Amino acid sequence: MQSTQLENITVDDIFLQAWKNHDIKASVLRLDKIHPVISGNKWFKLRYYLDDAVSNNKSTIITFGGAWSNHIVATAAACKMKNLRSIGIIRGKAEKYLSATLSQAAGYGMELVFIDRDKYSEKELPENIKDSNSYIIHEGGWGKMGSKGAATILDLVEKEEYSHICCAVGTATMMAGLITAAPSKATTIGINVLKNKPEAEENILSLIDSPEKKYLLIDDFHFGGYAKKTAELIAFMNHLYAETGVPSDFVYTGKLFFAIDNMIKQGFFPGNSDLLIIHSGGLQGNISLSKGTLIF
Ligand SMILES: *Cc1c(COP(=O)(O)O)cnc(C)c1O
Repeated sequence: MQSTQLENITVDDIFLQAWKNHDIKASVLRLDKIHPVISGNKWFKLRYYLDDAVSNNKSTIITFGGAWSNHIVATAAACKMKNLRSIGIIRGKAEKYLSATLSQAAGYGMELVFIDRDKYSEKELPENIKDSNSYIIHEGGWGKMGSKGAATILDLVEKEEYSHICCAVGTATMMAGLITAAPSKATTIGINVLKNKPEAEENILSLIDSPEKKYLLIDDFHFGGYAKKTAELIAFMNHLYAETGVPSDFVYTGKLFFAIDNMIKQGFFPGNSDLLIIHSGGLQGNISLSKGTLIF
């Protein structure tokens, strides 16, 4: 199996014609290039959990997610690489056909255990898989070790250059890590892709170690909630690709780029701003779109 390739990551200038009257610069950190499956922020969020599991002699990783979870498939692939057994506790009933994400996870050897939505929300492990040799990772890699891993994302760039660090927000684990690692003059901007602002705010507060850092959670671009999309969003993703060659996904980074484009055009960023936009991967999520929806 292909290993993760941090050396593939690039920092690329990005410019859209619509920004030409605005005095800002923007770069994209292409974490999507690490690996076709463990792309983007998931590898960073998982790294310390997996190290911790190995150093505590745990041979099985158990984690949680839905049928289209990037975290599930990234965990499956990372465990295969590290020769760890992996079990995915999946929300909902087993369908006759697995989603593309789950069949990929199963292909990496992850054992899938489906539990109904009520039990899932309690994060109660089924009796038969409780085992002292297993190591549990929260849904989405949420937690201190996840954000500590995400903080290392900024080791890849000359971070002092940037006035704003922009990312998509699900559990906010990545954002919390970025806030922690950001230079104190910078503002970290999170674009919420779920309709869960109070929870995301709480998650940030519980994970950051440096409350004096500047950050902003923006809630105007979730397009109705997790994995919800509109024709306008899809059109923008195609436009972004046509003008810049940067692919995005409709769950996370499409909403992030849409939001940043919108905020630039509204004059949100002061003159001379230098933005770093985190491309957190997730492109495999586009598999669920019908053919021809996207031009990339
Ligand atoms: C999981 C994911 C996120 C969200 O990360 P959180 O740490 O949960 O906020 C953002 N972008 C992509 C592509 C993801 O897969």
